[in-house]
Amino acid sequence: MPDIAERTRAARRITVTGRVQGVGYRPFVFRLAADLGLAGDVRNCTGEVHIAVEGETAAIAAFECALVEQAPPLARPELATSQADEWRGAEGFRILPSEESEHAAIHVPPDLFCCDDCLAEMADPGQRRHRYPFTNCTQCGPRYTIIAALPYDRPATSMAGFDLCPACAAEYGDPHDRRFHAQPLACPACGPQLSCGDLAGEAALQAALDALRAGQVVAVRGVGGYHLMCDAGSDEAVARLRERKHRPDKPLAVMVPQRGDDGLDAVRALALPDAAELAALAAPERAIVLVRRRADAALSQLIAPGLDEVGLFLPYSPLHHLLLAEFGGPLVATSGNISGEPVLTEPDQADDRLAGIADCMLHHNRPILRPADDSVLRAIAGAARPIRIGRGIAPLELALTEPLPMPLLATGGHMKNALALGSGARAIASPHIGDLDSPRARQVFEQVAADLARLYRIDPQAIACDAHPSYATTRWAEQQGLPLVRVQHHHAHASALAAEHKPGITWLTFAWDGTGLGEDGAIWGGEALLGQPGAWRRVASLREFTLPGGDRAAREPWRSAAALLWEAGQDWSPPIADPALARAAWGRRLGTFPCSSAGRLFDAAAMLVSGMAQASYEGQAPAGLEALARRWTGPLDGAPTLPLQADAQGVLRIDWHPLLAMLADDALPREQRAALFHESLAQAIRATALALADGSAFDAVGLTGGVFQNRLLAERVLALLEEDGMIAHLPKLLPVNDGGLAFGQLVEAGAVLRR
Ligand SMILES: [Zn+2]
Ligand SMILES: [Zn+2]
Repeated sequence: MPDIAERTRAARRITVTGRVQGVGYRPFVFRLAADLGLAGDVRNCTGEVHIAVEGETAAIAAFECALVEQAPPLARPELATSQADEWRGAEGFRILPSEESEHAAIHVPPDLFCCDDCLAEMADPGQRRHRYPFTNCTQCGPRYTIIAALPYDRPATSMAGFDLCPACAAEYGDPHDRRFHAQPLACPACGPQLSCGDLAGEAALQAALDALRAGQVVAVRGVGGYHLMCDAGSDEAVARLRERKHRPDKPLAVMVPQRGDDGLDAVRALALPDAAELAALAAPERAIVLVRRRADAALSQLIAPGLDEVGLFLPYSPLHHLLLAEFGGPLVATSGNISGEPVLTEPDQADDRLAGIADCMLHHNRPILRPADDSVLRAIAGAARPIRIGRGIAPLELALTEPLPMPLLATGGHMKNALALGSGARAIASPHIGDLDSPRARQVFEQVAADLARLYRIDPQAIACDAHPSYATTRWAEQQGLPLVRVQHHHAHASALAAEHKPGITWLTFAWDGTGLGEDGAIWGGEALLGQPGAWRRVASLREFTLPGGDRAAREPWRSAAALLWEAGQDWSPPIADPALARAAWGRRLGTFPCSSAGRLFDAAAMLVSGMAQASYEGQAPAGLEALARRWTGPLDGAPTLPLQADAQGVLRIDWHPLLAMLADDALPREQRAALFHESLAQAIRATALALADGSAFDAVGLTGGVFQNRLLAERVLALLEEDGMIAHLPKLLPVNDGGLAFGQLVEAGAVLRR
């Protein structure tokens, strides 16, 4: 650039960090530099983008601002450094090959939805990607599930086996094309294809659609694994899926066509979403969002029996868009897996294991390197909060306010497992993996642990696990030959919430869930903990009861009801084959466990209010009870007050005893009893917080544990605490249930190891 006067010219070296890989950032930098008449180069360097630029001083200033302010929608750039450089008189602007670096903050992008530009192209018969189900660009398409190694370049993805045709290669190399360096770029001539039996491409798609229209169940290979799909408006189709999947009641997610100006017309035809839910449904993460179903919704009643909410989501991959647009109505889209296992990803596995469930298999040949289940959100207190993080959200990168003293792996819980890795001030939360009862689930757990460690270049020097000795994650951790930090279950929940917020404050955290091994060997789950990460003290709990049959109680609510009623001295006969035998065994404390679980208290209430003796899935009893309570619009006076009394250890005990007569009172409508139960518990939490608020014992109240997935309870507690001038928080970034446990273990272990 010979014509720039020396006094008005500059050269700078700029480093940009944040989410800048896999989101079209380098092409954006290229175009920006070209528009501003700047010379230099840009390069991906594991986790960072390095830019060398020279030209007019004013243009460089504008360039630096635009690097952050005008970045592509999915990028989250941060200007890390900018230094004056030597003038070299470079010609033009170039994108250099990626370079590896040892110490950068690595970002692995989650899988992205299909952007509007690609959708428009697919809808245009004049385009070569008309109706092509693997269309993508720098702003959209798969990432996490196709990345084998970083830096993120095509040869290091599962697209490596698809050679670009000349037309695609031209797009890939053209800086002014929106597919410039789009790594998963593909077209009908050179990219992945659908198959269904002997049929391929459009014929395969049509065969799957025919099966769906005929009420059949179709296994569809998507981005992070298989879905089982069927007509969500047909009782017959949904009943068929439920029967074959041995899943009588657990809610099924429903994918709806994207229609109307904001794409949400089909959602509004089925449900009554509020503003937070609408925003969550339309967001690029394309999560499943729980929304209140319309009474007149054209949806089978079998979608979510006993519940008033339904989990809806919009199509996210081009294939889903094609299916939904042509089917024209809502489709059940539930994980293609065997109860609680990770979603299946491989065609041969699907053919084998889903054979008895699906009538038709719609495969494709783009390899999925690791599973990613759909994310699930529920709006509570005005914010869409994760019930499960997966495709579109995870891996989730979090900043730790207190750096870890060494790189750590946290193994999470046993059910709803997800793991976490951390190094320095960074933590990575994995996508949902599943329940670890099966060999396949444990194998996926090991693969995700190894993959994330490799991709993020974190070499764990210690492992954090749950204190429960028989969790699969604990047993695995014990075999790794690394120092172990065993973290009490509810301490982990409390630390996860604390680490989402500002450090250095003292919390009173209510950790209410189903089951966690307590410090005293009892089953905990109705705890209040005072302190901060690394220093929690149990200050309150539910009055203990003796639970017959430990783990089985989660699926058999009669056990929890029996525990409470027998403890209270009532002569109650559970609706089972041999109630007298059960009562006698309980009396002799055979196979029983001391328990203070709020989850079990909900189970007991569901048994007494709705007569639910057996649940077909974990959490069915409490979810049904919440749905009943939300139908009650009458007054809440008459909610029993639960006394508080300190036990011998000074732990304040919330006495559930006054609930029993109300719950069993057949003169009251079921809805009213369910509502009064919720009100009593919310008031009990308020009373506990007030009783412990003496002086300046704590700065904030935390609500965490799976029980606080309950919107009615959580919102009521937040409102009551606010009335009393207390600040209360629920988790926002990670699941309130055991899906957020690993992150809490990481934080807690970090605090313990720092000491
Ligand atoms: Zn696109
Ligand atoms: Zn091509």
